[in-house]
Amino acid sequence: MIVMKFGGTSVESAEAIERVATIVSSRLKHAPIVVVSAMAKVTDQLIAMGNLAAKGQCDESLELFRSLRKRHFDTAEFLLGAKRSATLAPRLQAFLSELESFLRGLAAVRELTPRGSDYLLSFGELLSSLIVADAFMVRGLHAAWVDSRECLVTDSRHTHALPQMDQTRERSKKKIPPLIKKKRIPVMGGFIAATADGVPTTLGRGGSDYSAAIIGAALDADRIEIWTDVEGMMTTDPRLCPEAKTIKRISFNEAAELAYFGAKVLHPATLLPAIHKNIPVYVLNSRNLKSTGTEITAQAPPSRDIFRAITAKMGISIVNVVASRGVMVHGFLRSVFEAMDRHSTSVDIVAISEVSLSFTMETKRLPKALLTELEQIADVACEDRQAIICLVGEDIHGKPGIAASVFNTIAEAGVNIRMISQGASEINISFVVQESDVPKAVRHLHAHFFPRKPASTVATKKNGTGSRGRANGAARVTSKLQAATTSATTNENVELRASRP
Ligand code: ADP
Ligand code: ASP
Ligand code: MG
Repeated sequence: MIVMKFGGTSVESAEAIERVATIVSSRLKHAPIVVVSAMAKVTDQLIAMGNLAAKGQCDESLELFRSLRKRHFDTAEFLLGAKRSATLAPRLQAFLSELESFLRGLAAVRELTPRGSDYLLSFGELLSSLIVADAFMVRGLHAAWVDSRECLVTDSRHTHALPQMDQTRERSKKKIPPLIKKKRIPVMGGFIAATADGVPTTLGRGGSDYSAAIIGAALDADRIEIWTDVEGMMTTDPRLCPEAKTIKRISFNEAAELAYFGAKVLHPATLLPAIHKNIPVYVLNSRNLKSTGTEITAQAPPSRDIFRAITAKMGISIVNVVASRGVMVHGFLRSVFEAMDRHSTSVDIVAISEVSLSFTMETKRLPKALLTELEQIADVACEDRQAIICLVGEDIHGKPGIAASVFNTIAEAGVNIRMISQGASEINISFVVQESDVPKAVRHLHAHFFPRKPASTVATKKNGTGSRGRANGAARVTSKLQAATTSATTNENVELRASRP
């Protein structure tokens, strides 16, 4: 049995869904379970509709709703023909009517709660999975639509719920293997789940990858395939740097690090269930049926390059916390960390001195209440529009000169580094720059560390500019203490959270 997940762009149109059907037909002997995302951009549109309705702009919200409804009906008709799409229409309409009533209610109460948001976003995957299942049937693939909310059980942390693996396994085993025994192809929406008592939840943006891995682990799949719009995991985001190359094989640890630090091609938690059950994961291109993509397994042959890949995570804030005069220095750090704990904040990079602490967090996850609390004991300044650039490679810390080479390259690109973390994880070097500097920094790093011919040594330039660059870079390296956080993992359910393994 294998799990095949198709992302938003892979189901964005009737043509794309036809390609999905062809890909799935080529895997029939492996007993596929198909997990699909909402059609491309639908989740963003649902969020926009919800925000408009919550502001009382009901008409504008319903206008968006109508174009979403048209897109789904048009796609269904193109794929199924007029007659068959008329039989699917009432099922699509049932979800669409629920969505419309919700938007009208939202416009009346004018409050979109996290629980309401999960309910709202669930319609994207419910609609796309219904259409894909029927499109399969019309093409001779014996599909069976499965309601993911009846298989994936999570806690009630709405908008980023954590799977409850025991209950998920129990419910999935009841629903899915009997279908496979009857030679059916289960088709289900990714990203969406429900609490044990049936309240809809979601696994966080991009969470369909995670759904596929959870189902794979729950049912002991032989492999998990993530079909997307690029040729596998690449040496960097090809949108930032067109020279990016496909990574043929990569270890779970390296791939998880890349996903955590911004390689959007995988949801950060995707690999955790796979690691737990040692299930190989493949990242493949749904626009290239012959794609061999990237294989992610426990062990991978060492890379010929120094690093495996470079990532950039945008939308980061740096928070600088400096002990107020008169506050006892002793106990300052403890108070800061206790405040973070009370607000369940999980930070990426931390730099500490005796009386000050800087940390980074995704801006959208930074609780205002934490800042207010820290202001009681410290001067707090927050800088938005920052980004974390991260270079990942196994065994990099055993090789001298690598950090210097990274920071020289950045200095030569004329980019200023704001914070650094090296050492907290054995396999990455990460640092913070301004968001606007990311394309320049990534392209320079990529050209340096992934030359057309692999570098055999850590290259350094010998001209004067290069030396000055190195000196500046080195000064910056030593200017901050370096650290990063990892979340402790205690049991299987917690272990599957969206934090670094
Ligand atoms: P899907 O809709 O299939 O889930 P996503 O948009 O979530 O696809 O992820 C695919 C995108 O991830 C690619 O289009 C690419 O721009 C981006 N990406 C970022 N980093 C990487 C990387 N290292 N390798 C491949 N793709 C990457
Ligand atoms: N549709 C969801 C999103 O856009 C989940 C996914 O695509 O993986 O975030
Ligand atoms: Mg994705």
